[in-house]
Amino acid sequence: MWSRCFLRVWIRQNLTLRDNFSILRALKPSKEVEAFMSRICTLFSGSSGNCTYLASQEGGILIDAGVSARSIQRALEDRDIDPKTIRAVFVTHEHTDHVAGLRVFCSRFGCKVYSSPGTLAALEEKGMLQKVDSSCIGEETVEAAGMAVRPFPISHDCAQGYGYRIHMPDGRKVAVATDTGVMTDGVREAVHGCDLVVIESNHDVRMLQNGRYPYYLKRRILSQTGHLSNDDCAVELVELVRSGTTRLILAHLSRENNVPELAYETAKSFLTSVGMRQGTDYLLSVAPKASDQKVMVF
Ligand SMILES: [Zn+2]
Ligand SMILES: [Zn+2]
Repeated sequence: MWSRCFLRVWIRQNLTLRDNFSILRALKPSKEVEAFMSRICTLFSGSSGNCTYLASQEGGILIDAGVSARSIQRALEDRDIDPKTIRAVFVTHEHTDHVAGLRVFCSRFGCKVYSSPGTLAALEEKGMLQKVDSSCIGEETVEAAGMAVRPFPISHDCAQGYGYRIHMPDGRKVAVATDTGVMTDGVREAVHGCDLVVIESNHDVRMLQNGRYPYYLKRRILSQTGHLSNDDCAVELVELVRSGTTRLILAHLSRENNVPELAYETAKSFLTSVGMRQGTDYLLSVAPKASDQKVMVF
C-alpha cells in the first residue's frame, strides 16, 4: 500500500498533468490508499452561502459556515462524513453568507473557530461566538487535522478578510480565495503554485451593469473591495496554470449577475486562447450553489 502511495506522489511531482492522468487512472487507488489522500468538497457556494470541506486522514476542516448548521450537517452526512470529525472552521469574514451557521455548528460539534482579529471582533459584537472556542490568527500558520493553514488578506469591504492556503499532509497545496475585489499581490502570492485553487468568479460585468441592482450596489461589487468578475478571474487562471495549478474551481457565483455556463465558458475560452486545454493542462469546474457532488480525492 505504501509503495503505491509514494508512487502516486512521485508521479504528481514529476510528470505533467497530461502524463499523470493516464498513469494515475491505471493506478486507481485502493480504499486504504485513498484514506491517505487529500479531499475537498465545496458544499455550498455563492451569494446564498459558502462552506468548503477539506480533509486529511486525521479529520476535516471547513472554510466558512455560511448556511444553517442543519444544512451543513446534512451536507456532510449525505457524503458519509461524521460532523464530529470537523476539527475547526476557518472564517474568511463576517458577512452572513460566510457565517450564518457558524455559532450553532461549532457549539454543537465542538469545533474551534479561527479568523482574523477584525473578523472575530465583528462576530463577537453580533453575539456569534457565544459558547464557541475561537482564536485569532495573524500571518502565522495554524495546524488543524494535520493540515497547515495559512491566512492571507483579501480585498473586501469587511472588517479584516482572509483567504486561506492549506498545505495538506500528503504534500498537496490548496487555496481558497473568494470575496476579493482585486487580485492583490498578496493574494497572487498565496495562490501561486497550489495544486488546487478555489477562486471567485462572481459576476459577468455586462450582466451586472444591465441588471436590476441599485447603482450603489453595482458600484460596491465592481469596486476594489467588492467581488472578482468572470473576466478578471479568467486572467488569473492563466497564471495559475503556468504556476502548476491543475485543478481550478470557480466559486462564489452571483445568483443575479452570473450563470455557471457563462463563468465556465469565460474561463475556458481565455485559457484556450493561450493554448491551454481542459483535461490536458487543467481541470476546470464550477462550484454549484448547493452541491450534490461527491468529495473529490486528489
Ligand atoms: Zn463578503
Ligand atoms: Zn461572500
